Amino acid sequence: MIITVASGKGGTGKTTVAVSLALSMAPAQQDSTDKKSVNPANPLFLDCDVEEPNAALFLKPAIKERREVGQLIPEVDFDKCTYCGRCAEVCQYHAIAVVPQRVLVFPELCHGCGSCTLNCPEKAIHEVLHVTGTIERGWAGPVEFAQGTMNVGEPMAVPIIRQLKQWVIPPRPGDRPIILDAPPGTACPVVESMRGADFVLLVTEPTPFGLHDLRLAVEVARDELGLPVGVVVNRDGVGDRGVDDYCAAKDIPILMRIPLDRRIAEAYSEGTPLVEALPEYRGRFADLWRRIAGSKE
Ligand code: SF4
Ligand code: SF4
Repeated sequence: MIITVASGKGGTGKTTVAVSLALSMAPAQQDSTDKKSVNPANPLFLDCDVEEPNAALFLKPAIKERREVGQLIPEVDFDKCTYCGRCAEVCQYHAIAVVPQRVLVFPELCHGCGSCTLNCPEKAIHEVLHVTGTIERGWAGPVEFAQGTMNVGEPMAVPIIRQLKQWVIPPRPGDRPIILDAPPGTACPVVESMRGADFVLLVTEPTPFGLHDLRLAVEVARDELGLPVGVVVNRDGVGDRGVDDYCAAKDIPILMRIPLDRRIAEAYSEGTPLVEALPEYRGRFADLWRRIAGSKE
């Protein structure tokens, strides 16, 4: 079962919840560094916040494999090119331009669609990989871990998230707990992190800002993608009843409440997962998973 943990904005405790959920689902500590030992009880955790991945600070995985990722962009063979301009005509993204005796490619605009290569009458274009980031996988105790990291200055996170998912999520995940920690916000990288999920868990805080961003996240997850959603209210008790009233009106279940607690903030600042700092939360997160899994049946 694939669950995406998301929030309309950063700083709501999304990664705290995602990491604690994964650790609470894991079987008793075991060394799972041998890939052959993967079994359906080992949760798989993906940090999809490729612009600023930080779950590794808490899970402290041992990385076993790393790949460069990116997208194919055109490269022109000037011995064959006649500067006819056809490639620029077919490019919808203005990523290739033909000027006298030159063809210019703008990798940051290119979507890797391949149209220019297909349409070049001289077969003067071949594609080369433009590296935009890395994807990595390994183990954090009994939790299989994977993350993507986008290179500084690159504009497109979606291809990295897509390749990360394709690399590590099995085609038929069955009941294996798979948890995706989405980027903050509601833009395309978040949509890509939600695509294919069975459930979206939205972490918010009970303030007007939290409510504003929760509404946007619900619009994307439930209204656009048609996915079931549930809410975790973090720092419960700090604000007003706006989130509660909104969830009641929209028939969105509030599945868990985490009170404002100085010990949680201290654990976060030290890179200690919530369920390790406060083990009494382990059962609560396991129960959260059961409620989510139950909602699917
Ligand atoms: S379509 Fe091919 S031949 Fe024409 S300008 Fe582009 S690269 Fe050169
Ligand atoms: S691959 Fe597609 S987006 Fe990139 S330059 Fe060619 S036509 Fe344009």
